[in-house]
Formats: sequence, structure tokens, C-alpha cells
Amino acid sequence: MVASAHLFCLVALTFTLALAVDHTPLQDFCVAHPKSQVLVNGLACKDPTLVEANDFFFRGLHLAGNTTNPVGSKVTPVTFSQLPGLNTLGISLARIDFAALGTNPPHTHPRATEILNVIEGTLEVGFVTSNPGNRHVTKVLQKGDVFVFPVGLVHYQRNLGSANAIAIAALSSQNPGVVTIANAVFGAVPDIASDVLAKAFQLDKHVVPNLQSKF
Ligand code: MN
Repeated sequence: MVASAHLFCLVALTFTLALAVDHTPLQDFCVAHPKSQVLVNGLACKDPTLVEANDFFFRGLHLAGNTTNPVGSKVTPVTFSQLPGLNTLGISLARIDFAALGTNPPHTHPRATEILNVIEGTLEVGFVTSNPGNRHVTKVLQKGDVFVFPVGLVHYQRNLGSANAIAIAALSSQNPGVVTIANAVFGAVPDIASDVLAKAFQLDKHVVPNLQSKF
């Protein structure tokens, strides 16, 4: 009885861990098929005999993203969508450009841990632990510094400098996903009822439609 309970716990734990990251590949590669209509967890594989070097290649991360937008930052992703050879490999990359005082606003990646390397400028970064602590773990990073944002936690970056800043981020999923908190909550389509948001954010009910109109 005790042994079977332990076995059950072990199986349950293993199952949970297996779902916490992308699945392990069962073959050398599975380059995303550009036109397959097959719906699988990831994308269907291109015929391996037709795979070429360009399937494992992306050019353009030397190019600055356009930060002329309300938050003053731009993420240039390199996921399986831009680099089909990443399909099933459980990893991806992004370049993040920041205008002076630009912010990559609070967001989460439901499927990935993110490790970030500042290659230009000075960034304030932070993440918040889950309930009930909600501890804000924050640090100011200089060029060459590296910081990690654990999977699923809300995190952000802000450029403290008066010049542009650049970071490169690696993520532990071919498709990390992004949930930008403000957009998800105030920009949901159709709207979340203003009563719900007024209570959740302890706002005057009349402020909510104004916030919703911005997203
Ligand atoms: Mn991120």
C-alpha cells in the first residue's frame, strides 16, 4: 500500500515535470513543415531528406527593433516561426531594444524560463514570486550582466539610461508564449466586465473603461 502510494507520487511528479518544459525530441530534428495542415503539439516535420542549412538559420538579429511605440521597447523574436529548425528543440531567442527610459512591460512566458544578457546600456529588471509572497526580486544590470526570469513568473525590464539599450534573451521553449499583463487584462476581447477589473485592481469603476480604451 505504502509502496504503491510512493509509486503513484513518483509517477505524478514525473508527469508534472515532463509538462513543465518542451517535450524531448525523438529524432535529430523536426524542421517545421511550412504548409502542413496537421495539428500537433508543435508543428509537423518537413521531409528530413529535403532539409537544408537555411532551415536552421536566421539572419537579422544585428538589426535594431523599432522602439517608437507607447512603451519604448521592441522584442524581435527568433522562435520556430522565424527559424523552422527550432521546432521540437525546446529553445528560442529574442533581441530586445529599448529607447531611453523604454520599458518591456510586466509579462509572463507560460512555457519558458528566460535568461537575459545586457549587451548595451543599463537595465533595471525584476520578477515577482507567486502568491502569497509576491516578492519583487529586482536588480540593475550593466553591459555584460546576465539575469534569469524563472518560468511563468511576471517580469519586466526598464532602460535606466539616456541612450538606447539592447539585450539578448534565450528562452527554454521553441514557443515560449507571452502574456503581457496590462494587455491581457485591459485589452481582452470581448472586455472583462469593468466590475471585475475595478474590484481586482481596487480602481474606481469609471477608470476602467478609460484603461480598456488604451489597449
Ligand atoms: Mn520576458
